[in-house]
Amino acid sequence: MEIIIENTKIKSIAADITTLTVDAVVNAANSSLMGGGGVDGAIHRAGGGEILQECKKIIAKIGRLPTGEAVITTGGKMPSKYVIHTVGPVWHGGQRNESELLKNAYINSLKVARDHSIKTIAFPSISTGVYGYPVKYASREAVSSVADFIKQSPGLFDEIIFCGFDSSAEEEYAKALEEIA
Ligand code: ADP
Repeated sequence: MEIIIENTKIKSIAADITTLTVDAVVNAANSSLMGGGGVDGAIHRAGGGEILQECKKIIAKIGRLPTGEAVITTGGKMPSKYVIHTVGPVWHGGQRNESELLKNAYINSLKVARDHSIKTIAFPSISTGVYGYPVKYASREAVSSVADFIKQSPGLFDEIIFCGFDSSAEEEYAKALEEIA
């Protein structure tokens, strides 16, 4: 599924995000930035040790990365030049500000991208693995946050990809895109 908003192509795909040739891939990291399972582990494995080295330097400066914030490192050996690390919220049933925190993760990732003149970005399905956020809701938050940001600041990005790991995740992003098209 693909839509265009203010000259930015927004699409949903199913893929291993570490294989994508984009300026930046976003990592669903945790506050320690020390790597982990899921997409975080896959990105560190594919990108190599340089990513962790840069993460350690960042953590030495800021202590920990709060939920909803974002920082940037090299993409190491991946095709993407950069990794933008953000921390999504853990799902507790929806009453603990999860949607606002998830929105912040997308918006702050886009702000970091803008500040590095990044034109093409791929997002994984943040918070929907170990953190348990239902993909049906997470996909709607993701798509609306990104679409609102683009409408407010047109002309920054060429392409934004929502990268589900499998076709069932991709379908949720496709539906969310259809709803706002
Ligand atoms: P979180 O802790 O934010 O929930 P996870 O990494 O556990 O993060 O899961 C986030 C999403 O990333 C899940 O939907 C999972 O299926 C997906 N995922 C895992 N590995 C990859 C990968 N290599 N490429 C794209 N998506 C992936």
